[in-house]
Amino acid sequence: MSAWLEVSLQVDGEAAEATAEVLQRYGYQGVAIEQEGIMPDAWSDDELPPPQKLIIRAYLPVDDELETKKANLEAALGYMNLMYPMPQPVYRQVAEEDWAEAWKAHYHPVRLGRRLLVRPLWIDVETGPDDIVVALDPGMAFGTGTHPTTHLCLEALEDLTQPGAQVLDLGCGSGILAIAAAKLGAAHVLAVDNDPIAVRTTIENAAQNGVSDRITAQEGSLDTVLGSARRFDLVAANLIAKIILNMSEQGLGEIVRPGGVAVFSGIIQEQVAEIEAALRKCGLEPYRQRAMGDWVAIEARRPHA
Ligand code: SAH
Repeated sequence: MSAWLEVSLQVDGEAAEATAEVLQRYGYQGVAIEQEGIMPDAWSDDELPPPQKLIIRAYLPVDDELETKKANLEAALGYMNLMYPMPQPVYRQVAEEDWAEAWKAHYHPVRLGRRLLVRPLWIDVETGPDDIVVALDPGMAFGTGTHPTTHLCLEALEDLTQPGAQVLDLGCGSGILAIAAAKLGAAHVLAVDNDPIAVRTTIENAAQNGVSDRITAQEGSLDTVLGSARRFDLVAANLIAKIILNMSEQGLGEIVRPGGVAVFSGIIQEQVAEIEAALRKCGLEPYRQRAMGDWVAIEARRPHA
């Protein structure tokens, strides 16, 4: 193989998952999803985050099958276009020697906290004996560890995960936080997400990281957890402010056991005061903030009864 064809499409959040799935069929070693222009200040006004512009990229080897693959890919995108407006794919020829660089430019291992290393599944990195490595296929779901909201949660988890802890990952996405908590010594992590694709992805990623025995992933949300009698030593919730506010009116504080702690992320600076007031109302005591750019993660504890 001497050359590659890069295929990329700029789509919104709604089309991203389906587009990535189509590209995954033809791309060599998966797809890359790149996030563009997050508009956090718009979040608090709406139920859901605004459609984000994402770039989905894949690389096809230039060989005898290329034309067939291209035709099939375009047909699949054409079908999608019947249901949802899709842009035309953009093609770019990449030489073999540039290909690895092209990948690396989009995905590279990230070191964070003191010992954590998040790496793409297919890139081997030299690690030290103390490194705690989380390997993810970034094409599978969002949450590659490079987003500030995830980054802040991972740093908090590194400080807060006690050996043997019972942990809840509320809104697990790729499962990155659940996997990190398990690797940091949690006895068990319950990972829930209201998106079934996230649940499936978390299960797959837990298996890839060899921590399936300590992670249970299931479809659900706060009500599922409240309905079970389980209470947690540590809760990680990387959700947007609006959802955290809603949940705080629905008993969010109760899922933390007395004496336990929680980290809330996906919050921008201007929303901190409102979130902290809501957390206090539901029985949690904010005690620390971590910031990265405009993003803030809030740590709170549930006082002993
Ligand atoms: N924990 C991952 C993913 C965060 S993205 C990380 O830190 O990188 C937020 C996730 O929360 C998404 O997967 C989304 O599907 C999920 N989510 C959003 N609202 C939710 C709700 N009300 N209940 C459960 N999960 C929710």
